[in-house]
Amino acid sequence: MDQEVNKQNVGNQSRSEERMQDALSITRHEFAKFFEDFESRCGELVCPMCRTSMWLVPSREDNPELMAILTLPLPLSSGRGMWVYPVFCKECGYLSNFASNHVAAKIRGK
Ligand SMILES: [Zn+2]
Repeated sequence: MDQEVNKQNVGNQSRSEERMQDALSITRHEFAKFFEDFESRCGELVCPMCRTSMWLVPSREDNPELMAILTLPLPLSSGRGMWVYPVFCKECGYLSNFASNHVAAKIRGK
């Protein structure tokens, strides 16, 4: 019984690790394609503040080809957080976030 629980924990841990690696590996080009596909199906993402639709996709400091990731703290979960890809309105700077795990899974077809 304990072994089964441990195997399950290892399985959960490796899936969690895989999801993290997927989120970290998404390039700005891949995100831009995801964003364009989304807009072609659902209409342009309009800024709720200024009503324009030009968005900037920031890159990671250590690699300009990869998506920037922000961590949103989770209440009552010290040291843990939700990863998001930030997108800024070019006109007013309004910040919009996309859940990294969700977007990475869509892009990687998982
Ligand atoms: Zn705006």
